[in-house]
Amino acid sequence: MAYINANYLNLKDSYLFSEINRKVREEAAKNPEKKIIRMGIGDVTLPLVPEVVSAMHKAVDEMASAETFRGYGPEQGYEFLREDISKYYAAFGVEVAPGEIFISDGTKSDIANITDIFSDDNTIIVPDPVYPVYVDTNIMCGRKIVYVAGTAENNFLPMPSADLKGDIIYLCSPNNPTGAVYSKEQLEIWVEFALANQAIILFDAAYEAYIHDASLPRSIYQIAGARKCAIEFCSLSKTAGFTGTRCGYTIVPEELVMQEVSLNKLWNRRQSTKFNGTAYVIQKAAQAIYTPEGQKQVHEQVEYYMQNARIIADTLKEKGISFVGGDNSPYIWLKCPNGMKSWEFFDHLLVNLGIVGTPGAGFGENGEGYFRLTAFGNRENTIEAMQRIKDLL
Ligand code: PLP
Repeated sequence: MAYINANYLNLKDSYLFSEINRKVREEAAKNPEKKIIRMGIGDVTLPLVPEVVSAMHKAVDEMASAETFRGYGPEQGYEFLREDISKYYAAFGVEVAPGEIFISDGTKSDIANITDIFSDDNTIIVPDPVYPVYVDTNIMCGRKIVYVAGTAENNFLPMPSADLKGDIIYLCSPNNPTGAVYSKEQLEIWVEFALANQAIILFDAAYEAYIHDASLPRSIYQIAGARKCAIEFCSLSKTAGFTGTRCGYTIVPEELVMQEVSLNKLWNRRQSTKFNGTAYVIQKAAQAIYTPEGQKQVHEQVEYYMQNARIIADTLKEKGISFVGGDNSPYIWLKCPNGMKSWEFFDHLLVNLGIVGTPGAGFGENGEGYFRLTAFGNRENTIEAMQRIKDLL
């Protein structure tokens, strides 16, 4: 008899985006003439930048000729890309060797797969609210999860309390959904906590490209001691519009050793057994981001979204609605006005203003009463949505 992984039965139905889509469909059917503006889903809208497209075309041509065709590549990623990412970090003072960088098809897979190299006896520390993948992937392993609360009192940046106990700590900065970003001093406290408890920090830097304030860390390795206690994940999805192209990377420093075992070696073993590498064409596309022209083009894209974020933030300020995020992140996390609950405010915005956002309650208990807007829409729609908020909310 085959037994299932019964831990899956403990997962809550992930109905957030399907419920949003259902409500939007119903509203559209009722009012077909209404223009509904979507500011909910965290997907980008701008196309790939020219530098990336051109590199991709060239790589496709290479694949079309026997002399330049590539079959299986290294499971860890091609050296050319690992080296360029290493140089990218060096440019802001962080030393990461190419051998510590593992290229993947995106950060979601790596965040999920990293659970493979840790025992299910670990206690997991997860901020609430946060990207739901951390919680669900650990429920799948049947692990104990302890939540640290992100609230208005701590600016949605939970810190370790004196009695906090745990072995694996997920941190997301800039945070999805709140847009809150940890300061250097706050990350120093987390690193100290991890070192004192022989715990590991899993640092999700998917939105690092949105950090404009030079005093805020873009990488956990800007903190002394982090190479001994942290794994970092980064994605090109929001940095360069790769949500559909798929590329990310994970950094596992050589100094990361637990029970005398190198985690770099363990992750390498996991990847080379269960993963056959990211497509050559995609890695060539990713490499194009790190050329001077590629950097310029992707910065312009990020700046476009950040201008949307400023437009949203200015409107909320004008309306006296309190919020965090939007200054060093593409997410704006607002308190639902008049004490409304997340879904109540969702319905109100959809029905009366034709705007779709994401109810905060979908990101954890502490998200109730909050709401996420994203800056990933196009400019025209963002302006129109904010005008509706000014006029009608
Ligand atoms: N981490 C966070 C915090 C995210 O918000 C997302 C995507 O929304 C990801 C990781 C996943 O990124 P990728 O597209 O590389 O799988």
